[in-house]
Amino acid sequence: MYNETWGLVHITVISKKMKRTILDFNIFSEEEQDWYLSETWCSVCKKPDLGIIEPLYYSEEDKNYIEGKCKICNTTTRTQITVTEIDENDYTQ
Ligand SMILES: [Zn+2]
Repeated sequence: MYNETWGLVHITVISKKMKRTILDFNIFSEEEQDWYLSETWCSVCKKPDLGIIEPLYYSEEDKNYIEGKCKICNTTTRTQITVTEIDENDYTQ
């Protein structure tokens, strides 16, 4: 039982690393890139929209993220990119 638990954790870590796929940030237009780089939240500064540098765009477990360093404190922050089509759920609360 002890060994099985350890094995599961080990496998999870490896598969998680393998699932991270680096994507091309340049597929976004300049406007979109600016938006993604400025619409951020830094958990250390506890402030939104400080901006990030050195962006890394990747997908992990079917979700897309942009990771970069906070312009103020240099902490790595991660923003999930959600591409959702607007449907009626956005209007009914
Ligand atoms: Zn910060």
